[in-house]
Amino acid sequence: MTLLWLDRIAAFYGPSQALFDVTMTVADGEVVALMGRNGMGKTTTVKVICRLLRQRGGHVLFDGRPLDRLPAHKAARAGIGLVPEGRRCFSNLTVHENLIAAARSGPWDLAAVTRLFPRLSERRDQNAGSLSGGEQQMLAIGRALMTNPRLLVLDEATEGLAPVVRQEIWAAISRLKAETGMAIIVIDKSLGELRQVADRAVILEKGVSVWTGAIAGLGPDITNRYLGI
Ligand code: ATP
Repeated sequence: MTLLWLDRIAAFYGPSQALFDVTMTVADGEVVALMGRNGMGKTTTVKVICRLLRQRGGHVLFDGRPLDRLPAHKAARAGIGLVPEGRRCFSNLTVHENLIAAARSGPWDLAAVTRLFPRLSERRDQNAGSLSGGEQQMLAIGRALMTNPRLLVLDEATEGLAPVVRQEIWAAISRLKAETGMAIIVIDKSLGELRQVADRAVILEKGVSVWTGAIAGLGPDITNRYLGI
C-alpha cells in the first residue's frame, strides 16, 4: 500500500523556487533512495515531507491523509521520523535523556534502540555533545526510532564518517529493512551502498523528479546523465 505520496510538489524559499515538480511515492516496507547532485532539491523535499517547509503547489498524502496543514511538531505524531542532515541532537543532554525525550509508545524503546546500537548503552550517561560523529549519528537514528515512525527519513546519515562507522550505519539500515519492514527514504552519496539496500530510486534534477524506477534498473546512462557518475 502507498504510505507516502508527493504529488507535483512546488516549494520556495522566499521568492526563490527550489522545487518545481516533484512526484514520488513510498510504499509500506519499501526503501527508496532519493538521489541527485548537490543542490537539486533532496533536502528541500525532505523538509516538505516533514512539514518543516510548506509546499506552495501540489499535495502530500501520508497514509491516505493530506498532510498539507500539519505543523512540523506533529509530523512525528503522524508517523514520520526524521534523521536530519547534520545529525542534530541535544548536545547538553545525555544519550539516555536524548532518547527518552523523543519517545512515543511502540516497539521501539530504549532496549530495542540499544540492541541496534549497543554503543549507545555504553555511552548512556555521557552528554551527546561529547560523542564521536558516528555515535552522534547512531543517537540521531535512535531518536527518530524512539518516535516509532512508519516512515524513517535519513538525510545523509553517513556523511563525514569514517569507513568503519559508515559500515555500521549501513548494517543498521539493512537490519531495519529486514527485521521491521519499516518504510525508509535514504539520501546518500554512496551509490554502491544504496544499491544494496534500496528497492527503488527517485532522481531529482533542478527541483524536478526526472527518473524513478527499480534501483537495479539504474544503468550507467542514467547515473552519468543525472548523477555525474
Ligand atoms: P545537497 O546534496 O547539497 O544537500 P540538495 O539536493 O539537498 O543538495 P537542497 O538543499 O534541497 O538540495 O537545495 C535545493 C535548492 O534550494 C538549491 O538551489 C539551494 O541553493 C536552495 N536552498 C536550499 N536551502 C535554502 C534556503 N534555506 N534558502 C534559500 N535557498 C535555499
